[in-house]
Amino acid sequence: MEMMLRIKRVPTVVSNYQNEEVEDLTQRVGGCGRNCLQSCCIRGAKLPLYAFKRVDKINQEAIEHDTGEAPIQFLDYLLLGQWEDRMRRGLFRYDVTACETKVIPGQFGFIAQLNEGRHLKKRPTEFRVDKVLQAFDDNKFNFTKVGQEEVLFQFEASEDGEVQFFPSAPIDNKNSSSMVAINVSPIEYGHVLLIPSFFECLPQRIDRESLLLALYMAAEARNTFFRLGYNSLGAFATINHLHFQAYYLAVPFPVEIAPVKKVATLDDGVKISELVNYPVRGLTFEGGNTLQDLSNTVSDACICLQNNNIPFNVLISDCGKRIFLFPQCYAEKQALGEVNPELLDTQVNPAVWEISGHMVLKRKKDYEEASEEKAWRLLAEVSLSEERFREVNALIFEAIAYDYTGSGGDCENFLEAAVKTQPMKEANAINRDAHHAMVNGVQECLVQQ
Ligand SMILES: [Zn+2]
Repeated sequence: MEMMLRIKRVPTVVSNYQNEEVEDLTQRVGGCGRNCLQSCCIRGAKLPLYAFKRVDKINQEAIEHDTGEAPIQFLDYLLLGQWEDRMRRGLFRYDVTACETKVIPGQFGFIAQLNEGRHLKKRPTEFRVDKVLQAFDDNKFNFTKVGQEEVLFQFEASEDGEVQFFPSAPIDNKNSSSMVAINVSPIEYGHVLLIPSFFECLPQRIDRESLLLALYMAAEARNTFFRLGYNSLGAFATINHLHFQAYYLAVPFPVEIAPVKKVATLDDGVKISELVNYPVRGLTFEGGNTLQDLSNTVSDACICLQNNNIPFNVLISDCGKRIFLFPQCYAEKQALGEVNPELLDTQVNPAVWEISGHMVLKRKKDYEEASEEKAWRLLAEVSLSEERFREVNALIFEAIAYDYTGSGGDCENFLEAAVKTQPMKEANAINRDAHHAMVNGVQECLVQQ
């Protein structure tokens, strides 16, 4: 009989202030004492401000490369420089760069990470997991309660169309600046949170503007190892305050090299495909005349899922040019008692990173015994059934006004293209000395008793 991964599932702490009791009302003069981002502490506060250039054309990057020097990847330097500064200041709950990572041997290249520090404190979930849309609740944890030191910089569109950087810009809680903050429980190097229109306190729900902001960030980073992800409520989001996650991983995610089958090309050039031979059923979106076309199509699909109370995860890869959408049903199956108890017991939360093939494991034993077959079986629990996936696709295609028949067209394999976009010299640049070693899995991982 095969040994299963046996670890308990617990919610993750993403900010150092998340575990605190309700804020003490006896505030000290000059703030609440936490240097937070609420009105008690915001007066006179400053943070770096990165004003990004709106990239409209999908192929802008290629054009820039043709004109000579590659642009300085300033966002990378800013983000990683600030992130490492926070690491030096001890703001993370553990040292993620010391976590061991390996590629599980096999056809798909699942990545396993041993992360023993991520589940240190238990905390009850603060919202229902059976409702994708829930109102923002000021009394529950949200990012305005984090310490200002957890925020790396403000992020907004440049007014004059050029990249601008201000090392110390006032924070104005009346404007709609977005913020990039650390995740204090990182699962990889440079793990951050993008919190759109920070002070508007939006609930965790996709809208056109916020998704476009996430795509702009992916485009601005100009680094194929930098991906953003989104978890809806009911699909392992842990905080009901609108946020995307992002981090650097110097290998392809298995889902990025999975074969796809083309389903549709929309009038604006957005191409939609279905993943084939991957444990979680999902759609990919790419192309389009502009980044905004791509963003609008995907956000309309997400809005459709939200309105139908279908939990989902989104992966933004290839500098914002390729987006994966996974409707999922794990929480529902769990509530109905339909998830294999052995898998439930693994403690792996199948959120966007896990679904994309980066498995974060909490016990050494599970890490050492990780296999492709186990990873596949866990992820398969997340997937909609074939029948349900067809129904959900019909809803999505209705929402984006495309006549969906459900039968695919050409079979295409993006393996070659995906591999070409992952030059290893960039991997070395990212995986500097501070980063943990990426080791190849050993053959013994495949042996099961
Ligand atoms: Zn305060």
